Amino acid sequence: MTYRSVDDAVLRRLEALLGADAVFFDEDSLDLYSRDETTEVSGRPEAVVKPEDTQGVSDVMRLADELVIPVTARSGGTGVTGGAVASVGGIVLSFERMSRIVEVDTDNLMAVVQPGVITGDLARATAAEGLMYPPDPASIDSCCIGGNVSESAGGPSAVKYGTTKDYVTGLLVVFADGSVSRLGGKVVKNATGYNLIGLMIGSEGTLGLFTEITVRLIPMPAFTMDLLVPFEDLFAAARAASDIIRARVVPATIEFIQKEATTMAERFLKKKVPFADAGAQLLIRLDGDNRSDVERQMERLWDAASAHGAMDVITADSTATSDRLWEARRCIREAIVAESEAKEGEDVVVPRREIPSFVSRAKELLDGLGVSSIFFGHIGDGNVHVEIIKGDMDTDEWRRALPKAREGLYRLAAGMGGLLTGEHGVGSIRREYLPLSLDPAQVAVMRRIKAALDPKNILNPKKIFPETE
Ligand SMILES: Cc1cc2nc3c(=O)[nH]c(=O)nc-3n(C[C@H](O)[C@H](O)[C@H](O)COP(=O)(O)OP(=O)(O)OC[C@H]3O[C@@H](n4cnc5c(N)ncnc54)[C@H](O)[C@@H]3O)c2cc1C
Repeated sequence: MTYRSVDDAVLRRLEALLGADAVFFDEDSLDLYSRDETTEVSGRPEAVVKPEDTQGVSDVMRLADELVIPVTARSGGTGVTGGAVASVGGIVLSFERMSRIVEVDTDNLMAVVQPGVITGDLARATAAEGLMYPPDPASIDSCCIGGNVSESAGGPSAVKYGTTKDYVTGLLVVFADGSVSRLGGKVVKNATGYNLIGLMIGSEGTLGLFTEITVRLIPMPAFTMDLLVPFEDLFAAARAASDIIRARVVPATIEFIQKEATTMAERFLKKKVPFADAGAQLLIRLDGDNRSDVERQMERLWDAASAHGAMDVITADSTATSDRLWEARRCIREAIVAESEAKEGEDVVVPRREIPSFVSRAKELLDGLGVSSIFFGHIGDGNVHVEIIKGDMDTDEWRRALPKAREGLYRLAAGMGGLLTGEHGVGSIRREYLPLSLDPAQVAVMRRIKAALDPKNILNPKKIFPETE
């Protein structure tokens, strides 16, 4: 596909549509919008636009469609697979000026938001009404709902409450040709035609742009308790996590943290964190109707954990004590970035029963390739996060080892009935590996859907699909 470049004439037309103060093409702006949170991926747009409403987004898409100019959507810019990076130049369309919580509807238990709303702001606004918007990516105070829907983001609470896809009931979508359609709404059920909302969720900016999002809310649990449980090693913690689920206890979260990650967190925070000497820890949140309900869950959980050598436990039922338990987990990514010039975060997902086996075989694989790795994250839902770290490895060696490490992890997950990503998406960095998770027929169907909705391939090109198959 040959795209038209964003020359002066195009810039003037964009300014006429949105106003000069919504169109940016100075060097600093183009630099600023050429990256997201993916290390080693960048792509410089030729213009950045910041529309304020659906009409503005539609106008930009009509122009892009007419002139065949690629458009890459961006909300919070916290993606870790290069999704918001303009891989082939063109226009970055930022939703930062569409950041209003339109409504928290306490009668229907729904919220209506613009895509640029920070996820944590929505969670706080609903909590003030005694309601919960459960999806809680660790980036909750910097990522936005638009990006969450586009990546089908998850978070620690996915174990019990699911991910973004389980909460979206309505979308206002601008398609590639600028046409606008309202899908679903404030309805709990919807069997009306194809599930286009489901198709849009996780489409990574390649099928349409969301300008308003309706999400379902649930009552806030009355009582929560956090537990930090140390284990001798990573494998014991993984087996305990798997058995907790088998014992029919479904905590709101089960996160695990390997010792090396705790040590890095200590260096980053410049202070001691609890159980830093343990080989691994599980960080668990239980919630329920009242204290005795939660304590009953805790007893069953403890039986499963102690069978795998749980050594101790710290509990927290107030925000202040709970923050202390979560502090290390929350800063791991930043701690790794502070110590290594390069790293890649993988988020393969496997059936939960396979977690212990995946963890031990993945560690063996990465050790065999001579790359450092740290395991942490959302173990309770099988979405094991593996950080592959360059550290002081020679750069050429790192470049050779990384694709092998990735491919090995994806093949390992696939062999266990898993997939290459549970929440971060495919983006640009994983697209060549897509056929390791999806069979040719599925990829072909997806390509046909893409061609039907975006025949000129202007929405976020060079994402999801492999260049060659
Ligand atoms: C420290 C850290 C922790 C993280 N933890 C988690 C975690 O626990 N769980 C998790 O799932 N992810 C996590 N992430 C990854 C990231 O935060 C998520 O992928 C998040 O959903 C991205 O949201 P965003 O608003 O930043 O999207 P962006 O990065 O701006 O965009 C992501 C994708 O969405 C598209 N897009 C953006 N807005 C729209 C729109 N309005 N319409 C259509 N497409 C759009 C973009 O084109 C791009 O493809 C983490 C990232 C960091 C840096």
